[in-house]
Amino acid sequence: MIERAIYTEDHAMFRESVKKMYAQELTPYVEEWETKGIVSREFWRACGNNGMLLPDIPETYGGGGLDFKFNAILLEETALAGTTGPAFGVHNDIVAHYINNYGSETVKQHWLPKMASGEAIGAICMSEPSTGSDLKNIRTKATPVEGGFLLNGSKTFITNGLNADVAVIAARVGDDSGARAISLFVCGCDQAGFIKGRKLDKVGNRSSDTAELFFEDVFIPQENMLGKQGEGFIYMMKELPQERLSIAISCQAAAQHAYDIAVDYVKERQAFGKAVFDFQNTRFVLANLKTNLQVGWAHLDACIQALVDGKLATHEAAAAKLWHSELRCKVVDDCLQLFGGYGYIEEYEIARLWRDARVMRLYGGTSEIMKDLISRSI
Ligand SMILES: Cc1cc2nc3c(=O)[nH]c(=O)nc-3n(C[C@H](O)[C@H](O)[C@H](O)COP(=O)(O)OP(=O)(O)OC[C@H]3O[C@@H](n4cnc5c(N)ncnc54)[C@H](O)[C@@H]3O)c2cc1C
Repeated sequence: MIERAIYTEDHAMFRESVKKMYAQELTPYVEEWETKGIVSREFWRACGNNGMLLPDIPETYGGGGLDFKFNAILLEETALAGTTGPAFGVHNDIVAHYINNYGSETVKQHWLPKMASGEAIGAICMSEPSTGSDLKNIRTKATPVEGGFLLNGSKTFITNGLNADVAVIAARVGDDSGARAISLFVCGCDQAGFIKGRKLDKVGNRSSDTAELFFEDVFIPQENMLGKQGEGFIYMMKELPQERLSIAISCQAAAQHAYDIAVDYVKERQAFGKAVFDFQNTRFVLANLKTNLQVGWAHLDACIQALVDGKLATHEAAAAKLWHSELRCKVVDDCLQLFGGYGYIEEYEIARLWRDARVMRLYGGTSEIMKDLISRSI
């Protein structure tokens, strides 16, 4: 890999500490989380104890007071460790940012330190049974009452849905239709009427708990509204580039990991009296993947730097999400092929990496929605 210029000594030290922590606290538990369909709360706590949560949130709220590159390292190392179970993208890069950027002082002081310590796990609740891509049409409703709102409705596909202690929820206030009626709220998941539904049985990404949520007259105090009433859609559009870049980062690193384990495998596996690596087809497939990965890292680093500089445009983040998620799917599929029949057997990690990849072209906005966003910038 070409030396990456965006990271400093401090970033390198952080990366080493994450690797070390993962060897003890993550790698030994991946299979258990896959079977249980959920990452343990102890792991989140351990991350908090090691100063790995909320890297770029101000220290006054318990965060690291660092830059987004530390968040990126966490995403990279998680994918390089072969899992996308712990949803750091949701917790660190989305929920904490909504609260930090738009929350009242009370809300920030209440939730951010808990999220930084791993005591509270975050969820972002936008998608509903009847709408995902078309967020302007959400139906969950927040009805104004004395001192706040009563929330009614349901959400689906919510990452960290079962583990979550705090949720950022998009809801419609009043009877208006369209984007101007949408506001965002912070809600503790132990509030009366906040019901966690079933854990969804997914094709892949199984160690990440994904659930349905139901709201029945959940009281939300006025101070838990994020920013101004009716501006929720604007905030979502502002925050989505970071969410999409987070997905792109995970995808690039997961693709690299699949490539790395495939190289090891084909150098060991023998066929027709030689290593599978020695067939010209294998070397050409790997050469293609290696080239794509090299280009991918360079592009990713440019995007990470642009985000840190506050210059990553919405359409650029959409392009990154589109390209890196499609790259990941292509790489894991080509790598699985190199494993032959073993690639289809669950005991082999490549099988799980292949299953885990598919959702990346769906969540955080589908590939089609990314293309639509990019095309609007042309
Ligand atoms: C594992 C998982 C985790 C998730 N985590 C979360 C989460 O934490 N929080 C959350 O809020 N959501 C989450 N989601 C939801 C995810 O973001 C949505 O599934 C996604 O945005 C697509 O919405 P949809 O499923 O309703 O599909 P639909 O919007 O119904 O789309 C169906 C098809 O139509 C296409 N389509 C729709 N509109 C257009 C258009 N304008 N032009 C062209 N094609 C179009 C889509 O690309 C897709 O192919 C998660 C989903 C999954 C599977």
